[in-house]
Amino acid sequence: MSADRVVLVTGGNRGIGRAIAERFVAEGYKVAVTARSGEGPEGALTVRADVTDAASVDAAFTEVEQTLGPVGVVVANAGITKDTLLLRMTEDDFDSVVATNLGGAFRVVKRAAKGMLRARWGRVILISSVVGLYGSPGQINYASSKSGLVGFARSLTRELGGRGITANVVAPGFIETDMTAALPDETQADYKKNIPAGRFATPDEVAGVVTWLASDAA
Ligand code: NDP
Repeated sequence: MSADRVVLVTGGNRGIGRAIAERFVAEGYKVAVTARSGEGPEGALTVRADVTDAASVDAAFTEVEQTLGPVGVVVANAGITKDTLLLRMTEDDFDSVVATNLGGAFRVVKRAAKGMLRARWGRVILISSVVGLYGSPGQINYASSKSGLVGFARSLTRELGGRGITANVVAPGFIETDMTAALPDETQADYKKNIPAGRFATPDEVAGVVTWLASDAA
């Protein structure tokens, strides 16, 4: 079944998105990734897209549809942080993070929904974060965008759930990627103290959850 299915992962050139794309390739799906820079993993089609720009998202989908076929599984993974405390947070710090993490998911899922409705089958997977559920100092912009994805997915299932389309949010804890490598060493050590396993997780551990959510078993 997976061989007929087309997956699109946003931000698939590095980090968690890349690991997700690799896992889908290994499971035999037809895989495309969006990237602003660089390339996705071997076996995946790379298309250019900036998720803050609806025309760019539309062009990326059109290219994937023409090359691989209609997109059945979409993973909204592209995301950014601009951490700073509330009193220092500018309008742009807030707006740009929400426009990428939450607005980006909106643009991508809206574009994907047309084909899914036609097929009466679809899998929408949104990459949120533990920070969206617990909150975190210095991340009011990021936490708002990530908890917003929960309301997004719940509403989406109420609109489209009757047409064979599921929507799920994956909220990973801290994962070893460029995003966490950018945190000061003391911050990383502090986070690890509160993680029962005493370590960050790997991108591949997130990918296993995502591929399951894309399957018929989900
Ligand atoms: P990285 O910083 O390693 O990668 C981010 C990805 O998002 C890159 O591919 C980047 O593209 C892409 N991206 C950013 N902005 C845009 C944009 N405007 N348009 C298109 N693509 C964009 O992050 P991670 O792999 O760590 O994170 C992936 C997702 O997982 C994010 O949504 C993040 O919030 C979430 N997450 C991460 C956790 C962690 O601990 N790392 C924990 C929980 C959630 P480019 O290379 O071109 O910049």
